[in-house]
Amino acid sequence: MAADEERETEFPSDHVNDAAQHEDPRKQEFLSLYKEQYGYPNGESTIDELRSYEFPQLKGDVYLDHAGATLYSRSQVLANLEDLCQTLYGNPHSQSGCSNISSNMVSKAREEVLKFFNVTTAEYNCVFTAGATAALKLVGENFPWTSKSRFWYTMENHNSVLGIREYALAAGASAYALEVEGSGQQQNLKLRACQRRTMGSLDKEEEGVAFSLLAFPSECNFSGKKFDLDLVKLMQSGQCPRDSGDKWIVLIDAAKGCGSSQLDLSTYPADFVAISFYKIFGYPTGLGALLIRTQSSGILQKKYFGGGTVAACVADADFVQRRESIEQWLEDGTVPFLGIAALHKGFLTVNRLGMPNIGMHVGSLAKFTASQLSGLKHENGNRVCVLYGNHTSVYWGNNCNQGPIVTFNLKRSDDSWIGYREVEKLAALNGIHLRTGCFCNPGACSKLLGLSEAEIRANLTAGHICWDEHDIIDGKPTGAVRVSFGYMSSIEDVLALLDFICKFFLNNRECQTGNQAVTRNPVKRTSNDNQKSDENIYLESITIYPIKSCGGFTVDSWPLSSCGLLYDREWVVVSAFGDALTQKKCPMMCLIGTYIEQSRKMLCVTSPSMKRRLEIPVFPTAEQAVDVRLNLCGERAFGISYKKEVADWFTEALGTPCSLVRRRPRSRQVHTRGGDSETHVCDHARDLSYANEGQFLLVSRASVEDLNQRAALSLQPNKHNHKRIAHHPVIPVDPMRFRPNFVVSGGSAFEEDSWQSLNIGGNKFVVLGGCNRCQMINIDQSTGRSQEGSNPLLTLASYRRSKGKILFGLLLANSEKDQERARTHTTADRIIKVGTKVDGKSV
Ligand SMILES: *Cc1c(COP(=O)(O)O)cnc(C)c1O
Repeated sequence: MAADEERETEFPSDHVNDAAQHEDPRKQEFLSLYKEQYGYPNGESTIDELRSYEFPQLKGDVYLDHAGATLYSRSQVLANLEDLCQTLYGNPHSQSGCSNISSNMVSKAREEVLKFFNVTTAEYNCVFTAGATAALKLVGENFPWTSKSRFWYTMENHNSVLGIREYALAAGASAYALEVEGSGQQQNLKLRACQRRTMGSLDKEEEGVAFSLLAFPSECNFSGKKFDLDLVKLMQSGQCPRDSGDKWIVLIDAAKGCGSSQLDLSTYPADFVAISFYKIFGYPTGLGALLIRTQSSGILQKKYFGGGTVAACVADADFVQRRESIEQWLEDGTVPFLGIAALHKGFLTVNRLGMPNIGMHVGSLAKFTASQLSGLKHENGNRVCVLYGNHTSVYWGNNCNQGPIVTFNLKRSDDSWIGYREVEKLAALNGIHLRTGCFCNPGACSKLLGLSEAEIRANLTAGHICWDEHDIIDGKPTGAVRVSFGYMSSIEDVLALLDFICKFFLNNRECQTGNQAVTRNPVKRTSNDNQKSDENIYLESITIYPIKSCGGFTVDSWPLSSCGLLYDREWVVVSAFGDALTQKKCPMMCLIGTYIEQSRKMLCVTSPSMKRRLEIPVFPTAEQAVDVRLNLCGERAFGISYKKEVADWFTEALGTPCSLVRRRPRSRQVHTRGGDSETHVCDHARDLSYANEGQFLLVSRASVEDLNQRAALSLQPNKHNHKRIAHHPVIPVDPMRFRPNFVVSGGSAFEEDSWQSLNIGGNKFVVLGGCNRCQMINIDQSTGRSQEGSNPLLTLASYRRSKGKILFGLLLANSEKDQERARTHTTADRIIKVGTKVDGKSV
């Protein structure tokens, strides 16, 4: 190992703390309450200095997902890199000198891991695994289950623990979820119904003492609730459960808990403990450990043997001799020794600050956040936040029963729930990283949100699986919002979160920390708020986008087809995996230029990175066309692909393997997403090209101007602006930023909100609803990049939100009659022209 291993890295203090200049009153309140707990004593640099030197990757982002993964420090990874450059590490299974360097380093790492849990190699073994999940699986897989065994686990548990029950049930053991009641020596286990009937009902009971397993997390990764570790001793002493003749084995999932508080195994000698290192100091990932109490090391009965685990083995006979030590026997293959080499630097970092200090630091932030959030009220007095967890309890010291996690859901002033997806989307827009959903902890989720098993099953049937958009079902949240703190989190992170919640979710004027000019009125399509002006409205431009997500071309007049403008989004670029590519994944698509030469019936395509322009016949000949299936934003669609040269051109232009697919005329009849009265979506099938929702998209220049004015106002520096808002001049956006087919000019801003139908030069359209906007509108269509000082989505989010959507522009469809007419007639008789009067009707 490198010679400088004990050298302590100084945190340079050349970064001046500018926060002191305009101190937020809430920060002062916080410091007056938690001066003792916040930050690190013993001549450590201030938290601001620590942040600016050690965590350059944050760049002003607000990172609040330390329960997901905490951050690695600069010193830690640089020291690790330096060590790798200085030391020749060989495979620890070899016998050479460099191999010895590795195996010595691995042994020292085991010692250091155990020391972190206040035990020695005589008391515990440290088996390296691929993570906490792999450690838990190792226990489940190799536990000596019999039909008499019981697997008990607390409701609050990670899926990685719940999965153990499959092994238990398969061996005929029983599995119960349970609640822990009481505290200290008075704890009681209350069994809930058996989650599933014993599967392998064996004919005859097995003989002898059965081993049973109790599993619980030291800290619940959903709510931050900490479990009382006296449970370990109660189980091991046989005091709990009373009647049992079993030998109880205790497994602690410490993956979350040990990142912010010390788990002292000399006081609470659990038999098995699962951990993951990225949850403690951020790096490396893919490395965890199973800590096994020495006196319990004979329990696991492993079947498989892999490289490195055997002392001798005969290939053509049933003979194998396992290696002596339990680490050697349980670690199949070569241990990730370079990852293990990084552990020392990680431990140096957290040990220098001191785990008790880290616990107090993060505890102060969590306690303050929880109390601030629970105090937030709408103007009518209704509370904004519902918190989950033990937030009224002490956060530090021995009796602490809440970790540095604040999990909550938000409510509107009318007491209805705000979906966590909306919170997440808006948080992301504001540079705040938090986690939403159930956090792989279904038991805590259902218990704390009050969802019954029947409701969970019903939600599944209604389409709720993890990762989807159904965050509220039948008026109830199906998950929550979680913020969690790490040792480098700061009060500024908390203030940014509080400002964000005030600005976007509070119906309370006091909370309008931003500019007064920004109103937060939700969009109401039925109200008369939007004044109808006397001014005439005209069609200013027509744009066709033949290839979905690529550049379009603008014309003075154009034919209308039954499913939109002729040739609009009739083509799509498809990835090697069959997914339709969009600018969300591939922003450079906007640089692909398109044009339709009507006379030659050719689609012409250009790209700044290609010398040759591509010409493709609008109707591919039979020998070119191959039928293909594709995935269009989650829906299955069909089309025909062109010959290889076309795919090669797009692959080179976009720098990713892809091909071009054309819609077969009328090949995709979809039901538009229905049911939402807000968007006035009809139930019947509409003809759509590869466009997502509407046949046409209309944007009003007056509304774009309104947006630009608000952006200019809201980004003016004021005392409430978080310091990370850089003071760039605001760059106004052009209507084309929204990729409209029609731009209309004249009239007043958002007059179009009240339209139900419109007539453009005799062509009639129905309004399907507002267009829900995403990050794509932050991409400058002429460069494919997002610019500093231009975040139209964030401005829109401040005043154009409705039912979890951010609306801008109108989605239109041909009126029924016109659609029918277009189907039966040649397209040529319906032409739309620039300069024509636009007549919007509210009825
Ligand atoms: C993160 C976490 C896990 C899973 O850890 P991996 O290292 O990703 O396998 C398990 N349990 C809890 C409580 C966790 O927080």
